[in-house]
Amino acid sequence: MSGNERQERQVVRGSKGRDGRQVEAMRKRLRELAFLHETSQVLTATLDLDSVLHALMAQVRDYFQVEAISVALLDEETGHLAFQVAVGVAAQEVVGLRLAPGQGVAGWVVQSGEPVLVPAADTDDRFYDGVDKKTGFRTHAMLAAPIKVEDRAIGVIEALNPAAGTFDEDAQRLLLAVADLAAVAIRNAELYERALQAERRYESLFNEGGDPALVLDLEGKILDVNRRAVELFGRSREEILGIVLSDLLDVPQAEFQAAIQQTLEGRQPVADIELSFGGDVRTLETHMAKIDFGGRGAIQWLGHDVSERVALEQMRGDLTHMVVHDLRNPLGSIMGSLQLIHTAFVERDQTLPVIKLLRIALRSGQKLYLLIDSLLDLGRLEAGETELNKVSVSVPPLIQEAVEQIQPFALNKKLSLSVQVDPDLPEALADRDLILRVLTNLLDNAVKFTRREGSITLAARQAEDEILFTVSDTGIGIPLEYRHRIFDRFLRLENIDGIKGTGLGLAFCKLAVEAHGGRIWVESEEDRGSQFKFALPLGTG
Ligand code: ADP
Repeated sequence: MSGNERQERQVVRGSKGRDGRQVEAMRKRLRELAFLHETSQVLTATLDLDSVLHALMAQVRDYFQVEAISVALLDEETGHLAFQVAVGVAAQEVVGLRLAPGQGVAGWVVQSGEPVLVPAADTDDRFYDGVDKKTGFRTHAMLAAPIKVEDRAIGVIEALNPAAGTFDEDAQRLLLAVADLAAVAIRNAELYERALQAERRYESLFNEGGDPALVLDLEGKILDVNRRAVELFGRSREEILGIVLSDLLDVPQAEFQAAIQQTLEGRQPVADIELSFGGDVRTLETHMAKIDFGGRGAIQWLGHDVSERVALEQMRGDLTHMVVHDLRNPLGSIMGSLQLIHTAFVERDQTLPVIKLLRIALRSGQKLYLLIDSLLDLGRLEAGETELNKVSVSVPPLIQEAVEQIQPFALNKKLSLSVQVDPDLPEALADRDLILRVLTNLLDNAVKFTRREGSITLAARQAEDEILFTVSDTGIGIPLEYRHRIFDRFLRLENIDGIKGTGLGLAFCKLAVEAHGGRIWVESEEDRGSQFKFALPLGTG
Protein backbone atom coordinates (compact mmCIF):
# COMPACT_ATOMS: atom_id res chain seq x y z
CA MET A 1 0.00 0.00 0.00
CA SER A 2 1.40 3.41 -0.97
CA GLY A 3 1.74 6.16 1.55
CA ASN A 4 -0.99 8.08 -0.22
CA GLU A 5 -3.37 5.18 -0.17
CA ARG A 6 -2.82 4.70 3.55
CA GLN A 7 -3.51 8.32 4.14
CA GLU A 8 -6.73 8.20 2.17
CA ARG A 9 -7.92 5.14 3.95
CA GLN A 10 -7.23 6.77 7.26
CA VAL A 11 -9.23 9.78 6.19
CA VAL A 12 -12.05 7.54 5.10
CA ARG A 13 -11.89 5.55 8.34
CA GLY A 14 -11.65 8.80 10.26
CA SER A 15 -14.78 10.17 8.68
CA LYS A 16 -16.54 6.84 9.09
CA GLY A 17 -15.66 6.90 12.87
CA ARG A 18 -17.11 10.41 13.31
CA ASP A 19 -20.30 9.44 11.49
CA GLY A 20 -20.60 6.33 13.60
CA ARG A 21 -20.35 8.33 16.81
CA GLN A 22 -22.88 10.85 15.54
CA VAL A 23 -25.26 8.08 14.59
CA GLU A 24 -24.75 6.47 17.94
CA ALA A 25 -25.35 9.77 19.77
CA MET A 26 -28.44 10.33 17.71
CA ARG A 27 -29.74 6.87 18.47
CA LYS A 28 -29.14 7.48 22.14
CA ARG A 29 -30.94 10.81 21.97
CA LEU A 30 -33.86 9.16 20.18
CA ARG A 31 -34.00 6.42 22.82
CA GLU A 32 -34.00 9.07 25.53
CA LEU A 33 -36.78 10.97 23.84
CA ALA A 34 -38.79 7.80 23.39
CA PHE A 35 -38.20 6.97 27.03
CA LEU A 36 -39.31 10.41 28.18
CA HIS A 37 -42.31 10.28 25.91
CA GLU A 38 -43.36 6.89 27.25
CA THR A 39 -42.74 8.02 30.76
CA SER A 40 -44.86 11.13 30.36
CA GLN A 41 -47.65 8.95 28.95
CA VAL A 42 -47.79 7.24 32.30
CA LEU A 43 -48.87 10.50 33.89
CA THR A 44 -52.06 10.74 31.92
CA ALA A 45 -53.06 7.12 32.46
CA THR A 46 -54.39 7.54 36.00
CA LEU A 47 -54.65 10.08 38.78
CA ASP A 48 -53.85 7.65 41.55
CA LEU A 49 -50.47 8.84 42.80
CA ASP A 50 -49.13 5.48 43.92
CA SER A 51 -49.83 3.77 40.63
CA VAL A 52 -48.43 6.70 38.65
CA LEU A 53 -45.19 6.63 40.64
CA HIS A 54 -45.02 2.88 40.45
CA ALA A 55 -45.36 2.89 36.68
CA LEU A 56 -42.77 5.67 36.42
CA MET A 57 -40.30 3.71 38.54
CA ALA A 58 -40.80 0.52 36.57
CA GLN A 59 -40.00 2.37 33.37
CA VAL A 60 -36.91 3.96 34.85
CA ARG A 61 -35.66 0.61 36.08
CA ASP A 62 -36.07 -0.96 32.65
CA TYR A 63 -34.37 1.91 30.91
CA PHE A 64 -31.44 2.34 33.28
CA GLN A 65 -31.14 -1.37 33.99
CA VAL A 66 -30.81 -0.75 37.72
CA GLU A 67 -31.35 -3.16 40.60
CA ALA A 68 -33.63 -0.88 42.56
CA ILE A 69 -35.36 2.44 42.27
CA SER A 70 -37.43 4.33 44.83
CA VAL A 71 -39.24 7.56 45.59
CA ALA A 72 -39.18 9.08 49.06
CA LEU A 73 -41.39 12.06 49.91
CA LEU A 74 -40.90 14.75 52.50
CA ASP A 75 -43.16 14.79 55.53
CA GLU A 76 -43.77 18.55 55.77
CA GLU A 77 -44.44 18.47 59.48
CA THR A 78 -41.47 16.47 60.74
CA GLY A 79 -38.95 16.96 57.92
CA HIS A 80 -38.54 13.15 57.61
CA LEU A 81 -38.32 11.44 54.24
CA ALA A 82 -40.62 8.46 53.85
CA PHE A 83 -40.19 5.88 51.09
CA GLN A 84 -43.43 5.89 49.19
CA VAL A 85 -42.78 3.68 46.19
CA ALA A 86 -40.00 1.23 45.36
CA VAL A 87 -39.40 -1.10 42.44
CA GLY A 88 -36.79 -3.85 42.21
CA VAL A 89 -34.82 -5.78 44.82
CA ALA A 90 -36.15 -5.47 48.42
CA ALA A 91 -38.86 -3.08 47.23
CA GLN A 92 -41.40 -4.28 49.78
CA GLU A 93 -39.12 -3.72 52.76
CA VAL A 94 -38.15 -0.26 51.58
CA VAL A 95 -41.66 1.19 51.33
CA GLY A 96 -42.57 2.85 54.60
CA LEU A 97 -39.00 3.31 55.86
CA ARG A 98 -38.18 6.80 57.07
CA LEU A 99 -35.02 8.89 57.05
CA ALA A 100 -34.37 11.64 59.58
CA PRO A 101 -33.99 15.18 58.17
CA GLY A 102 -30.73 15.39 56.20
CA GLN A 103 -29.99 11.69 56.67
CA GLY A 104 -28.35 9.73 53.85
CA VAL A 105 -27.83 10.73 50.23
CA ALA A 106 -31.58 11.19 49.83
CA GLY A 107 -31.66 13.58 52.80
CA TRP A 108 -28.79 15.55 51.36
CA VAL A 109 -30.46 15.83 47.95
CA VAL A 110 -33.70 17.13 49.43
CA GLN A 111 -31.90 19.66 51.64
CA SER A 112 -29.56 20.91 48.91
CA GLY A 113 -32.07 20.66 46.07
CA GLU A 114 -29.22 19.26 43.86
CA PRO A 115 -28.90 15.89 42.11
CA VAL A 116 -26.04 13.66 43.14
CA LEU A 117 -24.11 10.83 41.55
CA VAL A 118 -22.38 8.48 43.97
CA PRO A 119 -20.08 6.03 42.12
CA ALA A 120 -19.12 4.10 45.27
CA ALA A 121 -21.51 4.32 48.21
CA ASP A 122 -19.11 2.93 50.82
CA THR A 123 -16.66 5.79 50.29
CA ASP A 124 -19.21 8.59 50.41
CA ASP A 125 -19.77 10.30 53.77
CA ARG A 126 -23.35 11.11 52.94
CA PHE A 127 -24.27 7.49 52.47
CA TYR A 128 -26.35 6.00 55.27
CA ASP A 129 -26.31 2.20 55.42
CA GLY A 130 -29.33 1.89 57.75
CA VAL A 131 -31.70 1.05 54.94
CA ASP A 132 -29.36 -1.60 53.52
CA LYS A 133 -29.03 -3.13 56.98
CA LYS A 134 -32.78 -3.39 57.32
CA THR A 135 -33.38 -4.79 53.85
CA GLY A 136 -30.25 -6.88 53.29
CA PHE A 137 -29.66 -5.02 50.02
CA ARG A 138 -26.19 -3.82 49.18
CA THR A 139 -25.87 -0.38 47.57
CA HIS A 140 -22.86 0.21 45.33
CA ALA A 141 -23.59 3.10 43.01
CA MET A 142 -26.38 5.64 43.40
CA LEU A 143 -28.00 8.33 41.38
CA ALA A 144 -30.43 10.62 43.17
CA ALA A 145 -32.43 13.57 41.89
CA PRO A 146 -34.66 15.98 43.80
CA ILE A 147 -38.38 16.12 43.01
CA LYS A 148 -39.18 19.82 42.96
CA VAL A 149 -42.51 21.62 43.08
CA GLU A 150 -42.32 25.38 42.68
CA ASP A 151 -38.56 25.29 43.26
CA ARG A 152 -38.87 23.45 46.54
CA ALA A 153 -37.69 19.85 46.94
CA ILE A 154 -40.58 17.76 48.19
CA GLY A 155 -38.93 14.39 47.68
CA VAL A 156 -36.20 12.41 46.00
CA ILE A 157 -35.94 9.72 43.38
CA GLU A 158 -33.06 7.24 43.77
CA ALA A 159 -31.69 4.67 41.30
CA LEU A 160 -29.28 2.05 42.67
CA ASN A 161 -26.70 -0.31 41.20
CA PRO A 162 -26.83 0.00 37.41
CA ALA A 163 -26.04 -3.16 35.45
CA ALA A 164 -23.24 -1.26 33.72
CA GLY A 165 -21.61 -0.61 37.10
CA THR A 166 -21.71 3.19 36.92
CA PHE A 167 -24.07 6.00 35.95
CA ASP A 168 -22.98 8.56 33.39
CA GLU A 169 -23.86 12.24 33.10
CA ASP A 170 -26.64 11.47 30.64
CA ALA A 171 -28.27 9.23 33.19
CA GLN A 172 -28.20 12.09 35.69
CA ARG A 173 -29.81 14.44 33.17
CA LEU A 174 -32.48 11.87 32.37
CA LEU A 175 -33.24 11.15 35.99
CA LEU A 176 -33.73 14.86 36.58
CA ALA A 177 -36.25 14.88 33.75
CA VAL A 178 -38.03 11.90 35.32
CA ALA A 179 -38.02 13.68 38.69
CA ASP A 180 -39.76 16.63 37.01
CA LEU A 181 -42.39 14.27 35.65
CA ALA A 182 -42.85 12.75 39.09
CA ALA A 183 -43.28 16.28 40.47
CA VAL A 184 -46.02 16.94 37.93
CA ALA A 185 -47.70 13.67 38.88
CA ILE A 186 -47.56 14.51 42.57
CA ARG A 187 -48.87 18.02 41.98
CA ASN A 188 -51.71 16.72 39.80
CA ALA A 189 -52.63 14.10 42.35
CA GLU A 190 -52.62 16.73 45.10
CA LEU A 191 -54.79 19.08 43.08
CA TYR A 192 -57.10 16.24 42.20
CA GLU A 193 -57.34 15.17 45.84
CA ARG A 194 -58.04 18.75 46.89
CA ALA A 195 -60.72 19.11 44.22
CA LEU A 196 -62.18 15.79 45.29
CA GLN A 197 -62.25 16.88 48.92
CA ALA A 198 -63.83 20.20 48.04
CA GLU A 199 -66.43 18.35 46.00
CA ARG A 200 -67.09 15.92 48.88
CA ARG A 201 -67.36 18.83 51.30
CA TYR A 202 -69.79 20.57 49.00
CA GLU A 203 -71.73 17.38 48.51
CA SER A 204 -72.05 16.74 52.23
CA LEU A 205 -73.02 20.37 52.83
CA PHE A 206 -75.50 20.09 50.03
CA ASN A 207 -76.95 16.81 51.21
CA GLU A 208 -76.73 16.97 54.98
CA GLY A 209 -77.74 20.63 55.38
CA GLY A 210 -80.95 21.33 57.22
CA ASP A 211 -82.22 23.59 54.46
CA PRO A 212 -83.58 22.56 51.09
CA ALA A 213 -81.01 23.05 48.32
CA LEU A 214 -81.18 22.63 44.56
CA VAL A 215 -78.86 23.01 41.61
CA LEU A 216 -80.52 24.54 38.54
CA ASP A 217 -79.34 24.90 34.98
CA LEU A 218 -79.34 28.37 33.46
CA GLU A 219 -82.96 27.98 32.36
CA GLY A 220 -84.06 27.08 35.88
CA LYS A 221 -84.41 23.34 35.32
CA ILE A 222 -83.51 21.25 38.37
CA LEU A 223 -80.24 19.33 37.96
CA ASP A 224 -79.72 18.20 41.54
CA VAL A 225 -81.75 18.15 44.72
CA ASN A 226 -80.77 17.51 48.33
CA ARG A 227 -82.46 15.27 50.88
CA ARG A 228 -84.21 18.08 52.75
CA ALA A 229 -85.74 19.43 49.54
CA VAL A 230 -87.03 15.96 48.65
CA GLU A 231 -88.68 15.78 52.10
CA LEU A 232 -90.08 19.27 51.89
CA PHE A 233 -91.51 19.02 48.38
CA GLY A 234 -92.96 15.62 49.18
CA ARG A 235 -91.86 14.18 45.82
CA SER A 236 -89.19 11.70 44.88
CA ARG A 237 -85.82 12.82 43.53
CA GLU A 238 -86.65 11.39 40.11
CA GLU A 239 -89.90 13.32 39.98
CA ILE A 240 -88.18 16.57 40.87
CA LEU A 241 -85.18 16.35 38.51
CA GLY A 242 -85.73 18.07 35.19
CA ILE A 243 -88.67 20.22 36.32
CA VAL A 244 -88.37 24.00 36.00
CA LEU A 245 -88.32 25.29 39.56
CA SER A 246 -91.01 27.92 39.01
CA ASP A 247 -93.40 25.12 37.94
CA LEU A 248 -92.56 23.05 40.99
CA LEU A 249 -93.04 25.92 43.40
CA ASP A 250 -95.86 27.52 41.47
CA VAL A 251 -94.23 30.93 41.48
CA PRO A 252 -94.73 33.44 38.63
CA GLN A 253 -92.58 32.52 35.66
CA ALA A 254 -91.58 36.14 34.91
CA GLU A 255 -90.39 36.79 38.46
CA PHE A 256 -88.38 33.58 38.47
CA GLN A 257 -86.75 34.36 35.12
CA ALA A 258 -85.87 37.84 36.38
CA ALA A 259 -84.19 36.26 39.42
CA ILE A 260 -82.21 33.93 37.13
CA GLN A 261 -81.14 36.90 35.05
CA GLN A 262 -79.92 38.72 38.15
CA THR A 263 -78.04 35.61 39.27
CA LEU A 264 -76.31 35.31 35.91
CA GLU A 265 -75.27 38.95 36.21
CA GLY A 266 -73.46 37.98 39.40
CA ARG A 267 -76.02 39.20 41.91
CA GLN A 268 -77.54 36.95 44.57
CA PRO A 269 -81.27 37.59 44.66
CA VAL A 270 -83.15 36.83 47.87
CA ALA A 271 -86.91 36.36 47.94
CA ASP A 272 -89.55 35.07 50.33
CA ILE A 273 -91.92 32.49 48.91
CA GLU A 274 -94.87 30.79 50.47
CA LEU A 275 -95.31 27.08 49.98
CA SER A 276 -98.21 25.04 51.13
CA PHE A 277 -97.69 21.40 52.01
CA GLY A 278 -100.79 19.42 52.92
CA GLY A 279 -102.50 22.42 54.47
CA ASP A 280 -99.37 23.63 56.24
CA VAL A 281 -98.17 26.93 54.82
CA ARG A 282 -94.46 27.61 55.21
CA THR A 283 -92.41 30.63 54.21
CA LEU A 284 -89.01 30.06 52.66
CA GLU A 285 -86.40 32.76 52.30
CA THR A 286 -84.69 31.76 49.05
CA HIS A 287 -81.18 32.60 47.92
CA MET A 288 -79.79 32.10 44.43
CA ALA A 289 -76.14 32.18 43.39
CA LYS A 290 -74.11 31.28 40.33
CA ILE A 291 -71.91 28.22 40.78
CA ASP A 292 -69.74 25.87 38.81
CA PHE A 293 -71.41 22.48 38.61
CA GLY A 294 -69.07 19.82 37.24
CA GLY A 295 -67.46 22.29 34.84
CA ARG A 296 -70.67 23.96 33.65
CA GLY A 297 -72.34 27.14 34.80
CA ALA A 298 -75.30 26.51 37.07
CA ILE A 299 -77.38 28.16 39.77
CA GLN A 300 -77.55 27.12 43.36
CA TRP A 301 -80.91 27.65 45.03
CA LEU A 302 -81.17 27.54 48.81
CA GLY A 303 -84.34 27.85 50.84
CA HIS A 304 -84.34 28.77 54.50
CA ASP A 305 -87.50 28.08 56.46
CA VAL A 306 -88.46 31.38 58.09
CA SER A 307 -92.07 30.46 58.89
CA GLU A 308 -91.54 31.01 62.63
CA ARG A 309 -90.09 34.45 62.11
CA VAL A 310 -92.83 35.45 59.70
CA ALA A 311 -95.50 34.15 62.07
CA LEU A 312 -93.95 36.12 64.92
CA GLU A 313 -93.84 39.28 62.84
CA GLN A 314 -97.45 38.70 61.86
CA MET A 315 -98.37 38.19 65.50
CA ARG A 316 -96.55 41.33 66.52
CA GLY A 317 -98.53 43.24 63.94
CA ASP A 318 -101.75 41.63 65.13
CA LEU A 319 -100.85 42.29 68.71
CA THR A 320 -100.24 45.97 68.14
CA HIS A 321 -103.56 46.08 66.37
CA MET A 322 -105.31 44.20 69.18
CA VAL A 323 -103.70 46.14 71.96
CA VAL A 324 -104.58 49.44 70.35
CA HIS A 325 -108.11 48.15 69.87
CA ASP A 326 -108.32 46.86 73.42
CA LEU A 327 -107.05 50.11 74.82
CA ARG A 328 -109.35 52.14 72.66
CA ASN A 329 -112.57 50.34 73.65
CA PRO A 330 -112.50 50.93 77.41
CA LEU A 331 -111.14 54.40 76.81
CA GLY A 332 -114.11 54.99 74.51
CA SER A 333 -116.55 53.98 77.25
CA ILE A 334 -114.75 56.16 79.80
CA MET A 335 -114.88 59.15 77.50
CA GLY A 336 -118.53 58.45 76.54
CA SER A 337 -119.55 58.12 80.19
CA LEU A 338 -117.68 61.25 81.23
CA GLN A 339 -119.25 63.17 78.36
CA LEU A 340 -122.73 62.19 79.50
CA ILE A 341 -121.95 62.92 83.16
CA HIS A 342 -120.66 66.31 82.03
CA THR A 343 -123.91 66.94 80.17
CA ALA A 344 -125.90 65.84 83.22
CA PHE A 345 -124.19 68.46 85.36
CA VAL A 346 -123.80 71.30 82.92
CA GLU A 347 -127.25 71.00 81.39
CA ARG A 348 -128.81 69.78 84.63
CA ASP A 349 -130.25 66.82 82.75
CA GLN A 350 -131.62 64.66 85.52
CA THR A 351 -132.73 61.87 83.18
CA LEU A 352 -129.15 60.65 82.78
CA PRO A 353 -128.14 57.68 85.03
CA VAL A 354 -125.06 59.33 86.46
CA ILE A 355 -124.27 56.60 88.98
CA LYS A 356 -124.48 53.90 86.29
CA LEU A 357 -122.31 55.97 83.98
CA LEU A 358 -119.73 56.41 86.71
CA ARG A 359 -119.70 52.66 87.29
CA ILE A 360 -119.15 52.04 83.58
CA ALA A 361 -116.29 54.50 83.55
CA LEU A 362 -114.72 52.94 86.61
CA ARG A 363 -115.04 49.43 85.21
CA SER A 364 -113.50 50.46 81.92
CA GLY A 365 -110.68 52.16 83.77
CA GLN A 366 -110.13 48.95 85.68
CA LYS A 367 -109.92 47.04 82.42
CA LEU A 368 -107.34 49.44 81.08
CA TYR A 369 -105.29 48.95 84.21
CA LEU A 370 -105.46 45.18 83.89
CA LEU A 371 -104.39 45.22 80.31
CA ILE A 372 -101.57 47.67 80.73
CA ASP A 373 -100.28 45.88 83.83
CA SER A 374 -100.39 42.52 82.06
CA LEU A 375 -98.42 43.91 79.16
CA LEU A 376 -95.83 45.49 81.39
CA ASP A 377 -95.54 42.42 83.63
CA LEU A 378 -95.28 40.06 80.73
CA GLY A 379 -92.42 42.03 79.25
CA ARG A 380 -90.63 42.20 82.59
CA LEU A 381 -91.19 38.56 83.50
CA GLU A 382 -90.00 37.42 80.10
CA ALA A 383 -86.87 39.49 80.37
CA GLY A 384 -86.33 38.02 83.86
CA GLU A 385 -86.33 41.55 85.22
CA THR A 386 -89.06 41.18 87.79
CA GLU A 387 -87.78 40.79 91.28
CA LEU A 388 -90.47 39.03 93.22
CA ASN A 389 -91.52 40.91 96.27
CA LYS A 390 -92.35 37.80 98.29
CA VAL A 391 -94.21 38.25 101.53
CA SER A 392 -96.42 36.04 103.68
CA VAL A 393 -99.83 36.36 102.13
CA SER A 394 -103.06 35.43 103.77
CA VAL A 395 -105.08 33.82 101.00
CA PRO A 396 -108.75 34.62 101.92
CA PRO A 397 -108.36 38.42 101.69
CA LEU A 398 -106.40 38.02 98.46
CA ILE A 399 -109.22 36.00 96.99
CA GLN A 400 -111.75 38.50 98.26
CA GLU A 401 -109.94 41.33 96.53
CA ALA A 402 -109.80 39.47 93.21
CA VAL A 403 -113.49 38.64 93.39
CA GLU A 404 -114.40 42.24 94.16
CA GLN A 405 -112.57 43.41 91.07
CA ILE A 406 -114.35 40.97 88.78
CA GLN A 407 -117.78 40.94 90.44
CA PRO A 408 -119.15 43.87 88.40
CA PHE A 409 -118.39 42.07 85.09
CA ALA A 410 -119.92 38.84 86.39
CA LEU A 411 -123.04 40.64 87.51
CA ASN A 412 -123.28 42.26 84.15
CA LYS A 413 -123.60 38.83 82.55
CA LYS A 414 -125.74 37.47 85.37
CA LEU A 415 -123.04 34.97 86.31
CA SER A 416 -122.86 33.63 89.83
CA LEU A 417 -119.40 34.05 91.34
CA SER A 418 -118.75 31.95 94.45
CA VAL A 419 -115.71 31.36 96.64
CA GLN A 420 -114.59 28.19 98.46
CA VAL A 421 -111.58 28.71 100.70
CA ASP A 422 -110.29 26.07 103.08
CA PRO A 423 -110.58 27.72 106.55
CA ASP A 424 -107.24 26.24 107.77
CA LEU A 425 -105.28 27.43 104.78
CA PRO A 426 -101.73 28.42 105.76
CA GLU A 427 -100.22 31.63 104.45
CA ALA A 428 -98.51 31.65 101.08
CA LEU A 429 -95.08 33.14 100.45
CA ALA A 430 -95.76 35.13 97.34
CA ASP A 431 -95.63 38.40 95.46
CA ARG A 432 -99.13 39.51 96.39
CA ASP A 433 -99.65 41.87 93.43
CA LEU A 434 -98.58 39.30 90.87
CA ILE A 435 -100.76 36.52 92.29
CA LEU A 436 -103.69 38.92 92.56
CA ARG A 437 -103.30 39.65 88.87
CA VAL A 438 -103.09 35.94 88.05
CA LEU A 439 -106.41 35.45 89.86
CA THR A 440 -108.08 38.43 88.19
CA ASN A 441 -106.85 37.30 84.78
CA LEU A 442 -108.27 33.81 85.27
CA LEU A 443 -111.53 35.19 86.64
CA ASP A 444 -111.73 37.70 83.81
CA ASN A 445 -111.35 34.87 81.28
CA ALA A 446 -113.95 32.79 83.11
CA VAL A 447 -116.39 35.70 82.80
CA LYS A 448 -115.50 36.29 79.14
CA PHE A 449 -115.84 32.67 78.09
CA THR A 450 -119.00 31.73 80.00
CA ARG A 451 -122.44 32.39 78.58
CA ARG A 452 -124.91 34.47 80.55
CA GLU A 453 -126.28 32.92 83.72
CA GLY A 454 -123.48 30.45 84.09
CA SER A 455 -121.43 30.10 87.23
CA ILE A 456 -117.86 30.69 88.26
CA THR A 457 -116.12 29.38 91.36
CA LEU A 458 -112.82 30.38 92.88
CA ALA A 459 -111.43 27.79 95.30
CA ALA A 460 -108.25 27.49 97.34
CA ARG A 461 -107.05 24.57 99.45
CA GLN A 462 -103.89 22.96 100.65
CA ALA A 463 -102.64 19.93 98.74
CA GLU A 464 -99.58 18.44 100.38
CA ASP A 465 -96.93 21.17 100.44
CA GLU A 466 -98.68 23.42 97.96
CA ILE A 467 -101.63 25.75 97.90
CA LEU A 468 -103.92 24.85 95.05
CA PHE A 469 -106.05 27.57 93.45
CA THR A 470 -108.85 26.62 91.07
CA VAL A 471 -110.93 28.91 88.88
CA SER A 472 -113.85 26.91 87.45
CA ASP A 473 -116.45 28.06 84.97
CA THR A 474 -119.36 26.54 83.14
CA GLY A 475 -118.28 28.19 79.89
CA ILE A 476 -117.46 27.11 76.38
CA GLY A 477 -114.45 25.00 77.32
CA ILE A 478 -111.22 24.58 75.37
CA PRO A 479 -110.85 22.04 72.55
CA LEU A 480 -108.35 19.30 73.36
CA GLU A 481 -105.97 20.21 70.53
CA TYR A 482 -105.40 23.70 71.97
CA ARG A 483 -105.02 22.76 75.60
CA HIS A 484 -101.25 22.32 75.55
CA ARG A 485 -100.76 25.64 73.76
CA ILE A 486 -103.24 27.70 75.69
CA PHE A 487 -100.50 29.31 77.80
CA ASP A 488 -98.50 30.37 74.74
CA ARG A 489 -98.30 34.05 73.97
CA PHE A 490 -100.88 35.42 71.59
CA LEU A 491 -102.89 32.24 71.37
CA ARG A 492 -106.57 33.05 70.98
CA LEU A 493 -109.29 30.72 69.95
CA GLU A 494 -112.62 31.32 68.27
CA ASN A 495 -114.57 32.91 71.05
CA ILE A 496 -118.19 33.41 71.81
CA ASP A 497 -119.85 36.69 70.99
CA GLY A 498 -116.83 37.94 69.08
CA ILE A 499 -114.96 38.52 72.34
CA LYS A 500 -111.67 40.18 71.69
CA GLY A 501 -108.58 39.43 73.70
CA THR A 502 -104.83 39.78 73.38
CA GLY A 503 -103.83 36.21 74.11
CA LEU A 504 -101.47 37.59 76.71
CA GLY A 505 -103.34 36.90 79.95
CA LEU A 506 -102.55 33.21 80.25
CA ALA A 507 -98.96 33.69 79.12
CA PHE A 508 -98.59 36.21 81.93
CA CYS A 509 -100.23 33.80 84.44
CA LYS A 510 -97.81 31.03 83.49
CA LEU A 511 -94.73 33.23 83.81
CA ALA A 512 -95.91 34.68 87.14
CA VAL A 513 -96.76 31.29 88.66
CA GLU A 514 -93.53 29.72 87.42
CA ALA A 515 -91.52 32.64 88.78
CA HIS A 516 -92.84 31.51 92.16
CA GLY A 517 -91.66 27.95 91.56
CA GLY A 518 -95.26 26.88 90.98
CA ARG A 519 -97.13 25.30 88.07
CA ILE A 520 -100.30 26.06 86.16
CA TRP A 521 -102.52 23.87 84.00
CA VAL A 522 -106.03 23.53 82.64
CA GLU A 523 -108.68 20.84 82.64
CA SER A 524 -111.59 21.41 80.38
CA GLU A 525 -114.52 19.89 78.63
CA GLU A 526 -115.87 21.52 75.52
CA ASP A 527 -119.26 23.21 76.03
CA ARG A 528 -119.19 22.29 79.72
CA GLY A 529 -116.52 24.50 81.17
CA SER A 530 -112.91 24.84 82.20
CA GLN A 531 -110.91 24.56 85.39
CA PHE A 532 -107.75 26.59 85.49
CA LYS A 533 -105.55 25.42 88.35
CA PHE A 534 -102.31 26.65 89.74
CA ALA A 535 -100.26 25.49 92.67
CA LEU A 536 -97.85 27.61 94.69
CA PRO A 537 -95.31 26.12 97.07
CA LEU A 538 -96.17 26.75 100.71
CA GLY A 539 -94.32 29.60 102.34
CA THR A 540 -91.49 28.35 104.56
CA GLY A 541 -90.90 31.62 106.27
P1 ADP B 1 -107.25 36.64 75.97
O1 ADP B 1 -108.28 36.22 76.93
O2 ADP B 1 -106.85 38.05 76.11
O3 ADP B 1 -107.54 36.24 74.55
P2 ADP B 1 -105.64 34.70 77.33
O4 ADP B 1 -104.20 34.38 77.23
O5 ADP B 1 -106.14 35.05 78.68
O6 ADP B 1 -105.90 35.87 76.32
O7 ADP B 1 -106.44 33.50 76.77
C1 ADP B 1 -106.09 32.92 75.56
C2 ADP B 1 -107.23 32.18 74.92
O8 ADP B 1 -107.56 31.05 75.72
C3 ADP B 1 -108.50 32.98 74.88
O9 ADP B 1 -108.56 33.82 73.73
C4 ADP B 1 -109.54 31.89 74.83
O10 ADP B 1 -109.67 31.43 73.51
C5 ADP B 1 -108.93 30.79 75.67
N1 ADP B 1 -109.44 30.78 77.05
C6 ADP B 1 -108.86 31.35 78.15
N2 ADP B 1 -109.59 31.13 79.27
C7 ADP B 1 -110.67 30.43 78.88
C8 ADP B 1 -111.81 29.88 79.57
N3 ADP B 1 -111.99 30.04 80.89
N4 ADP B 1 -112.72 29.19 78.84
C9 ADP B 1 -112.55 29.03 77.51
N5 ADP B 1 -111.51 29.50 76.81
C10 ADP B 1 -110.59 30.19 77.48
